[in-house]
Amino acid sequence: MAGMKIPPEHPRAKSLLIRERLVEYYNQGVVAASGLIAHGRGETFDYLLGETTTKPALKSMESAVAMLLTAEKPVISVNGNTAALVAQDIVRLARVVGAGIEVNLFYRSLNRELAIKKLLEKAGAAEVLGVGENASARIPELNSERRRVDPRGILIADVVLVPLEDGDRTEALIKMKKKVIAIDLNPLSRTAQAATITVVDNIVRATPKIVEIARKLEKQNREKLDKIVMNFDNQRNLASSIMLMKSNLSTIGEKGLYPAREGGGNGF
Ligand code: ATP
Ligand code: MG
Repeated sequence: MAGMKIPPEHPRAKSLLIRERLVEYYNQGVVAASGLIAHGRGETFDYLLGETTTKPALKSMESAVAMLLTAEKPVISVNGNTAALVAQDIVRLARVVGAGIEVNLFYRSLNRELAIKKLLEKAGAAEVLGVGENASARIPELNSERRRVDPRGILIADVVLVPLEDGDRTEALIKMKKKVIAIDLNPLSRTAQAATITVVDNIVRATPKIVEIARKLEKQNREKLDKIVMNFDNQRNLASSIMLMKSNLSTIGEKGLYPAREGGGNGF
């Protein structure tokens, strides 16, 4: 089973364990086949980040937490990959910031929805929105099954946290005047570019960190939280992540990948 054949000193051990986990959940019907491909696209960008949580990512997380804490009706949208990788932290985060949890899939199937719901409940979720007939409302201008939402959740939410979102849907949510917080390793994706706040990091690292920040900020007053949100510039933050990737690449170009390795990350 998971991890059996991967020696811990393998330079890609962590990433291989995550792959195994996704395959396991794919076999259980939680993750979609396209979810495996989407993960691979994310991994490419994680390589360029140095597989680490960067300063710009931390800044965006702080602002995301402040936005969630000051929201009236925050909702966390969960797909198969998110449930497979970070179900427990999603439940923790929802509790700290008072958010609803809604299942939202690109490829809807009742079986997958139920499998994700079960996983989230096992992780401690009291209520999971958006499953089966509960996803009875529609987001305008979207053709995929992803437009189906829960009238008690995303439809009436003011802030939606969407780890691993699709660009079309992010744009549709923004058109509906919702604030969108995305977690996406690719700073160039339409999701990353269209979101109100983009956290350029792996959900595996970002989600527990966001919970930690939420526990720190939850006692802050409204004025301080509003200031954090106001002072955040997503385009500038995205540019910082892109510049970091560029400079990591230049370093590798000059020195090579392996001589630079100092245990941890992939050598940046
Ligand atoms: P968009 O639709 O936003 O233009 P896309 O079509 O390139 O993006 P999708 O397949 O719609 O990509 O969504 C997958 C996105 O999720 C990718 O941008 C990928 O970088 C990101 N992703 C995959 N796995 C992770 C992960 N573990 N952590 C963070 N981001 C991830
Ligand atoms: Mg897409």
